Amino acid sequence: MSTDAYNQFIISIEEFFDSQKRDLPWRKAKPVPYEVWLSEIILQQTRVAQGTPYYLKILEAFPTIEDLAEASEDKLLALWTGLGYYSRARNLQKGARQIVAEYNGEMPQSYGDLLKIAGIGPYTAAAISSICFNQRKGVVDGNVYRVLSRYFGIQTPINSTAGQKEFQQLADSLIQEATEPKNYNQGIMEFGALQCTPKKPGCLLCPLSEVCHAYQNGTIDQLPVKIKKGKRTQETIHFAVVKENDRWALYKRDHSSIWGGLYEFPRLAVAPKNAQLLQGPTIHKLSHKDLHCHFWEVGLDELNEPQTFYSKAELEQLGMPIIVSDFVKKQQ
Ligand code: SF4
Repeated sequence: MSTDAYNQFIISIEEFFDSQKRDLPWRKAKPVPYEVWLSEIILQQTRVAQGTPYYLKILEAFPTIEDLAEASEDKLLALWTGLGYYSRARNLQKGARQIVAEYNGEMPQSYGDLLKIAGIGPYTAAAISSICFNQRKGVVDGNVYRVLSRYFGIQTPINSTAGQKEFQQLADSLIQEATEPKNYNQGIMEFGALQCTPKKPGCLLCPLSEVCHAYQNGTIDQLPVKIKKGKRTQETIHFAVVKENDRWALYKRDHSSIWGGLYEFPRLAVAPKNAQLLQGPTIHKLSHKDLHCHFWEVGLDELNEPQTFYSKAELEQLGMPIIVSDFVKKQQ
């Protein structure tokens, strides 16, 4: 593409951000690095409308990096329940503790230093360093892949190593020419979220349509290119619901596992005989597999190990996988 096409892209993205940006709680004239960090971690894999209430309640509970570093993991995971991808919450806290220990509670400013913090990868480091400190490092998330692949007509699969490298290089080179790196980076993500959407993008009113490769060549539906991954796996889970004196037996999952640090009902290897099925199978979708969950009412003698029992009020203060928390909410 010509230099003009590059320049037009950058100018249009910055103008779009100036005129169309959404008013979001962490989007301030002088952004607070901790707030931007928190919002970015919550919004990975989560839409703005769904993530914002979580952002607000977590910030209210832990207004500073120090508060987050000192928080109990159970309290943080309880507030995170429903957002999924719980390792994000655990790493966020690990990162906060690291910032307190190594940086005196102040978020580091450079892309390279940010990458050393637990849970901060290239995307989050680029977002924080540009939005808070106006550094010129391009963000690349799902929105950016879509906008760049369509506008520049890039066919390299976005989930390949070559693709990730190519898009990152392009994003880095474009931001060098931006007037305000923080506006440009937020602008391209905002443009992808509002204008160049996955389905039915607003091409007719798009300031880039005259040059956009995909629009001009009728390939919008084919971009970005993604290599298809293998089939989703299926897993069956049998939960043992043991209740005594209005309290349920639950255990805290090992940190190395998915749902690490969350509380759930003990699991049975197979469906119990002569037990009542209270709920299920209920399908819970993870990124790579479907969990078919059954909740069985069983006696304590079905379990081999000693159990800890919790009341409903106590469980509200603990993190649980959403499928377990939904089940508990429905119980008397
Ligand atoms: S013309 Fe359509 S596909 Fe091209 S950038 Fe604009 S919205 Fe996206």
